Amino acid sequence: MKIGFIGLGNMGAPMAANLVAAGHEVTGFDLAAPAPEGVTKAASAAEAATGAEVVITMLPNGDILRAVATEVLPAMQPGAVLLDCSTVDVASARDVAAMAAEKGLGCLDAPVSGGVGGAAAGTLTFMVGGDEAAFATAKPLFDVMGQKAVHCGPAGNGQAAKICNNMILGVTMIATCEAFALADKLGLDRQAMFDVVSTSSGQSWSMNTYCPAPGVGPTSPADNDYTPGFAADLMLKDLRLSQEAATAADADTPMGHLAATLYAGFVETEDGAGRDFSAMLPRFEARGRK
Ligand code: NAD
Repeated sequence: MKIGFIGLGNMGAPMAANLVAAGHEVTGFDLAAPAPEGVTKAASAAEAATGAEVVITMLPNGDILRAVATEVLPAMQPGAVLLDCSTVDVASARDVAAMAAEKGLGCLDAPVSGGVGGAAAGTLTFMVGGDEAAFATAKPLFDVMGQKAVHCGPAGNGQAAKICNNMILGVTMIATCEAFALADKLGLDRQAMFDVVSTSSGQSWSMNTYCPAPGVGPTSPADNDYTPGFAADLMLKDLRLSQEAATAADADTPMGHLAATLYAGFVETEDGAGRDFSAMLPRFEARGRK
């Protein structure tokens, strides 16, 4: 397939490289990052989109996505699909889908879970919003870049699934960290805490797969001095998106709100800036108030 790829950062570059390795013809554009080997570098986003059957975007936020979409949609060929894999607000995803529909183009919002490791290994999970025809066009690309693509319904529903999932993740990570810190104070051994909780009703992905306590459970960023992994500031971005969406939809999300507040304070501290989101455990041990 002929593919345009805009946004060749930490996630986009390995995703584009996997498409090249699978035999697709990829033309890429990024304001700053170099094109990975095998990706033809375009001089602009519009140039990367010209003649492509699918244009993939992997960008930092909704405002940038809107600006890039405004530039690339007029350059896209009839029948082509804009496949946005960035994590953005639901409103931007729906507005960009409407802009594409006006031009007779397909559009999918398909944020991912799996991080940089999953992008490199081609094992991402895609949560997809948009119509069936566009999903069918993009399916072979999901199969190359990931291990699973769930069609969640119409435009915006991929982003809705992503921010709901990550709101649960932020809340369970905080709950797991504060429980470990309490267990420490009660004299409960961390290994015993893990052995009980990971097989009892307090279990979660945060405990079982990404345990925030060093030396306990499977290897995780806690075993590497909390080097991300999934950085606390990216968790904060997703929690803020969940709270924006909750306000817009008049949903009551007090735990998500508190998690966003705690991460906002955390990333401003030395312990939080640039560290993995599971570094909340040392923060609770220090009884930090931020
Ligand atoms: P990144 O900052 O490494 O990459 C973004 C790239 O977009 C940068 O290279 C930047 O130069 C480029 N860019 C910005 N504006 C541009 C424009 N107008 N035209 C062309 N290129 C432009 O970020 P990332 O870690 O690759 O994340 C990308 C998206 O994926 C984000 O929405 C993020 O929330 C989401 N995401 C990231 C992870 C992760 O673990 N890093 C996991 C899941 C989802």
